[in-house]
Amino acid sequence: MLQQTQVATVIPYFENFMQRFPKVEDLAQAPLDEVLHLWTGLGYYARARNLHKSAQRITQEFNAALPEDLVQLESLPGIGRSTAGAILSIGYGKHAAILDGNVKRVITRFHATPGYPGLTKVSKQLWELSESHTPMQRLPEYTQAIMDLGATQCTRKNPSCLVCPLHTQCQAFKTNSVGKYPEPKPKKKLPVRHCRMFLIQNNTGECFLEQRPAEGIWGGLWSPPQREHDYSASQILGELNIEVKEQPYIYPIFRHTFTHYHLNIEPVSLTVKESNLRIRSNLRYVWYSKIQRQKLGLSSVAVKLLAMIDSDNKRNGKNSD
Ligand code: SF4
Repeated sequence: MLQQTQVATVIPYFENFMQRFPKVEDLAQAPLDEVLHLWTGLGYYARARNLHKSAQRITQEFNAALPEDLVQLESLPGIGRSTAGAILSIGYGKHAAILDGNVKRVITRFHATPGYPGLTKVSKQLWELSESHTPMQRLPEYTQAIMDLGATQCTRKNPSCLVCPLHTQCQAFKTNSVGKYPEPKPKKKLPVRHCRMFLIQNNTGECFLEQRPAEGIWGGLWSPPQREHDYSASQILGELNIEVKEQPYIYPIFRHTFTHYHLNIEPVSLTVKESNLRIRSNLRYVWYSKIQRQKLGLSSVAVKLLAMIDSDNKRNGKNSD
């Protein structure tokens, strides 16, 4: 959970998760939908899917205990070299280096290492440096300390260099160039894609969601049907074999940005006739009720759209349950 997310955000999710899945076996046996449901709002859902898969492998192949071997740890989904290093050093006191985002920042500044750390050549150099700093003793303390130094002192903005225990040896501080490191990713203009999302509601205020394919963006999560930007309201009505009660309402386009592209989303609202309530809830489709809150993982955009139609319904005095 802490990969790419701050501790304060993670705490309530972690607590809920541990309450529901106190043992690795509990997580392994849980349906993926429930895992994604408890992850909703935390983002980067691949982490949840990987954690679930890893729990299954740990249960089946490693007798429900995390392996103590770097290669075996790295073979588990979602565990890369740095996470494996953190598990070995903090969890088992073994000699293993780490290089998460915080540690990268400390090391690039301490050594004034040029180049974007995402480049293979620079990354290799940073791993060598990280290994050279990793002591032979007190591994848990060292690893926690270097991560905490990056998280609390050597912060991205306004690092506390004057009180930093490393400042007398830090090359970036000594050369007054702390702001230069780590070097940013070379900018690339992101392409823009367009789509429509159909917000189909019935007269009890439930919203029609479909499950996305397991692979690809928001894989396995539930979302209002997404189609090409020129897919018309009548096409989706025909596809789902439904009739609407009112003319479609088209909301203003908004943008969601992924790492590799911007997605411009045009939400189209449709309210189905009472007689059309039979659209079947099956393995891929569900009528989502705000009251029942079925245990489903929702994409971040689905959460936003559900909140948007809910506030619109309230404003217009419609049933919003
Ligand atoms: S002196 Fe400043 S830049 Fe250098 S490691 Fe400490 S906090 Fe980071």
